[in-house]
Formats: sequence, C-alpha cells, structure tokens
Amino acid sequence: MPSAYEYTKEEFAELLVGEPRYRVEQVWHGLWTEGQAIDGITTIPKALRARLAEQFPPSLEVASDVQSDHGATRKWVFRLADGSTIETVLMSYEDRVTVCVSSQAGCAMGCTFCATGQAGFTRNLTSGEVLEQVMFAARAAAPRRLSNVVFMGMGEPLANYLVTINSVKRLHEYRGLSARHLTVSTVGVAPAIERMAREGLPLTLAVSLHAANNDTRSELVPLNRRYPLERLHEACVNWMAATGRRLSFEWALIEGVNDTEQALDELAPYAFSLRAHVNLIPLNPTPGYLVRGSSTQRVHEFRDGLIARGVNVTVRNTRGRSIDAACGQLANVTNGRRRPIPVRSS
Ligand code: SAH
Ligand code: SF4
Repeated sequence: MPSAYEYTKEEFAELLVGEPRYRVEQVWHGLWTEGQAIDGITTIPKALRARLAEQFPPSLEVASDVQSDHGATRKWVFRLADGSTIETVLMSYEDRVTVCVSSQAGCAMGCTFCATGQAGFTRNLTSGEVLEQVMFAARAAAPRRLSNVVFMGMGEPLANYLVTINSVKRLHEYRGLSARHLTVSTVGVAPAIERMAREGLPLTLAVSLHAANNDTRSELVPLNRRYPLERLHEACVNWMAATGRRLSFEWALIEGVNDTEQALDELAPYAFSLRAHVNLIPLNPTPGYLVRGSSTQRVHEFRDGLIARGVNVTVRNTRGRSIDAACGQLANVTNGRRRPIPVRSS
C-alpha cells in the first residue's frame, strides 16, 4: 500500500479528477502543513475522506507509547504492515521540538554497543514510513510546532540512501524544514557521505565516530574495517567542501574504552582538523555489551580536555533513559526478545 506522503501534488490531482480544483490544495495542506492523517482532514467531505482513508491506510500502528522526563520525552514503538517494529522518539525542549526517526527496521551495521545493531537487520523502511513517523510526532507535539527532525533512530540512513534523500527533500519542500533543523546521522559510509554532499540538500551531517584509532573503532563499529578513519576523514573534507557546512561527531563515552587520556589525544586532532563539533553522550548500557557508560565526572573531564585542546564540544543530555530511549532498546523489549539491564543512576 502506498503512503499518502509518497504522493506528489500532481498525483493527488489525478486521483481527485472530478472534484473541485481546490480539493487538491485542501488535501495537501491537511497532510503537510497541518500534518493530519487523511481521516483528520476535516475540510474535505466525509465521503471523500473515507475513500482516501481506505486508499491510504496508516503505515504505523502504535504497539507501545511511553513517556519520561515528565512528559518531555515520548517514545513509540510502531508495528508496520509486515509486523516488523520500529521506534520513534519525540523530545520537547524550551526552544525546539525534535523527533528522532528510524530509517530501517533493525540495522545491518552491527555496532557492538548498540541494541539495534545487536538485534540485526529486518528491512529498509519506505519514505512513507519515515515521513509518517514525522507527521505522527507532529500531531502529538501540537499545539507546539515540530521544529527538528533527526535521523538517529533505528537503522543506518545512508544504507537506505534514496529513501533518506527523498524524505529529506520532502520535509524541506513541503514542511519548510532546512539545514539547521534536519540532521542525518551516519556511522560513516564514506562514499554515501560524498554522494549526499553532491545532492545540494539543506541538512546537517552527524558522524558517529566513537573512537579515533582504527583498532578501537573497528571493534565498536565494524564498518570501520571497510572505511577506516583516514577514508572517513577524506569524506568529511569532501562534505565540507561541497556543502560549505561543518559537521558534528557523536561520541558515546564508554568507561575505560574511549574516555581515556589517549582517546582525548586521538580525538582532539581529528576533530580539530575538520573543525567539527563533538557531541558527548554517556553510553546507554545494552544487554549485549556489558560495559558501562562513563561517570558524569569523567564525562565532564573529557569535555574539559577537548575544550583545552581547542575543540568545540557539547555534552548531550540523555533523554528518556528510564524508558530505554537509547537506540533500539525499546523495540527489543516490546518484542520480548531481550530485557535491558538497569541503568545505573550516576
Ligand atoms: N545508524 C546511525 C543513526 C542511528 S544510531 C548512526 O549510527 O549514526 C543514532 C546514534 O545513537 C548514533 O550516534 C549511535 O552511535 C548512538 N548509539 C547507539 N547505541 C547507543 C548506546 N547504547 N548508547 C549511546 N548512544 C548509542
Ligand atoms: Fe546501526 Fe547506528 Fe546502531 Fe551502528 S549505531 S548498529 S549504524 S543503528
């Protein structure tokens, strides 16, 4: 079944032949500006709404809906038509409302510390499934306006390249989101970063680095064996040259693994040479990787070490820990496959 969010305006015009011309605008406005599901577009007659609703059933069925941070973080597990599950997280801040969307059901990249990676790959999402996550979250966020979309849920967006690009394009053209409000996070698929740089899309690139020496990175992120740090560096240089934009590095701090003085000395020149912004986030423990996130004190020391070395850095607050909001955790729990281990509260 196609999603209404995969249709162009012209395709809707064809579909609505025989209706007054303004119907197309009403449907389009309802879907994209208001973010309504078809059956919520009350400006069109009931019979037409029913016909369209039948033709475009929702791609997402809520399997679980939990909140934390006093309602500021909300996380859904959605069941798709084929039974696979994905997760979507909505985070409200004072100045923005961000949705974190999945690009794949599961992930084939096998990063050792990641719950999604531990569970393996099921399939690529369609752009309808990606965009419906955004619109579902936009409805839940109302009356606040959803301002940011980050591709940081389950899956590797650049391994589902065309869907990611198409979704970004549509969010830009039809929702008016632009670079500062659209972020694609990648584990470092170097050729795809370079290809995306040439698309001329308004978006921010985040690269999940986690280690700046090849031995450690290959252990944490197996894709590093294919695209080692030197190759990734080249792709980042090309990204900046083509887009004129800086990028950021994600660094999940793991006690004794990548929070050491040696790790600081490796990361600082790598990030500095690219003038990249580093986002630090303490690792969320997952069942298949029994090491701990760094203590709050070590996170701050590591941040200060980067600042002293001239690197821009932010400590990201870990939203939704009590509801397993780390990449992929909640979907696993709902499937009954694994239970997360308790998160220590340091
Ligand atoms: N596949 C893409 C995007 C999805 S993962 C990527 O890897 O970038 C989104 C972010 O969550 C990545 O930065 C990833 O490294 C991080 N992540 C995964 N598991 C985590 C965990 N257990 N604790 C903290 N961050 C984690
Ligand atoms: Fe996939 Fe990203 Fe998890 Fe690695 S961190 S397994 S790329 S979702």
